[in-house]
Amino acid sequence: MFDQGNFGGAGTSVIDGAVSDARDALTHMHELGLSGLDPAELEAFAVAALELSERATALTAKVAAHADRTQVARRRSGRAIGIGTHLAALTGCPTVDVNGPKNLGRWLDDFPTLADAWSHGRITEAHLRELRKAHNGRIHLDMFRAQDLFIEHANTLDFTGFLSALAYWLLHVDPDGDPPSERNRSYGVKFSKLPNGDVKLAGVFDPIVGEALQTAVEHELKKVIDRDKQENDGDIEKLRSFCQNTLVALTNLVTRGFRRESGEFPIPLVNIVMSETVAEDLLNRGFDGDHDPFTLPLDAEDVDGRCETIRGTPIHPRHALAPLLIGRLRRQIFKPKDQTFSKDTRLFNWDMRNALLVLSRGRCTSFGCDTPFMWLVADHVHPSSLGGLTELDNGEIRCGIENSGKGNTPGL
Ligand SMILES: [Zn+2]
Repeated sequence: MFDQGNFGGAGTSVIDGAVSDARDALTHMHELGLSGLDPAELEAFAVAALELSERATALTAKVAAHADRTQVARRRSGRAIGIGTHLAALTGCPTVDVNGPKNLGRWLDDFPTLADAWSHGRITEAHLRELRKAHNGRIHLDMFRAQDLFIEHANTLDFTGFLSALAYWLLHVDPDGDPPSERNRSYGVKFSKLPNGDVKLAGVFDPIVGEALQTAVEHELKKVIDRDKQENDGDIEKLRSFCQNTLVALTNLVTRGFRRESGEFPIPLVNIVMSETVAEDLLNRGFDGDHDPFTLPLDAEDVDGRCETIRGTPIHPRHALAPLLIGRLRRQIFKPKDQTFSKDTRLFNWDMRNALLVLSRGRCTSFGCDTPFMWLVADHVHPSSLGGLTELDNGEIRCGIENSGKGNTPGL
């Protein structure tokens, strides 16, 4: 799998050159330290350092290209395509081919020159993926004709340069681009829930809005990373990954935007619904050695067996513990039928709305309706204008639009 000879041929001279440059630069630095700072020498040193960094970039690219070619590493990043994995292969560690060029499907079949260049290591999969993303029916022929150009770019430009060249090439061959309306439709953001309750966020932004968002996140990210380092005293084991920190930065920005000037949030952002049975079980687990760790008192069908967000997303009681400890606790009792919270009011108050949301699991009660949670309102089943009482039994969760259309027609 790993072709040592090939790597030697492609990279040894570069490695040797870079190492010898580094040694020279260090010696030079040492001499400078001894002789004091002379402007001419300082300039020479700067030139040497610049050359060194250029050699290092070239070396990185060579290793990355080789790692890609030998299929020991697959990562869609221009800067360092799995160099760690590459080194793992050098030391005989097992590697997994997670994302072979086969993932490009049959697309590459249409571009034999690119396919050939890939198999000979003259273009990396990262380059191909970018071309695949840029490809559409309108520019198919142009892309076919430009295969050699792309290979040349891949060899002469660094990855960022390659991306710029590709973007400019696209402007030339497809000056109109997609019609604005067609393009606008492809932008959007979607939240979806995975079976285990994790929330997935997927989105595509137009270049300007996207860059604005990215800049804002990067600005916050720097602070988040600094704080992470401070809090963990630089302990690499404990530091969050770059992606985790990016998520923290994004979350910070979003929650900050939601916060009032006083620092308070107008409404709790997360409501966790935990029944007393579940809460008691959770607390007992810490102290009671006999507790069966695998039998949770959870029951989706029973209000008393719930542990979920107010939207109805089940959560493991252990995960709910931390937010419960720092959040505010509120006891919610589902009263017997004949009792009302307040007979006088025509509107459901906050507590009643929450109770109804718990009962409806944060969804509009009309079948198949997926109106966003925050738009839902508590409404009377039997209208209050016709004598319907403002009590839990006469309440239901509806989306605002249906609600306004419903008027005073009972039972609809
Ligand atoms: Zn609805």
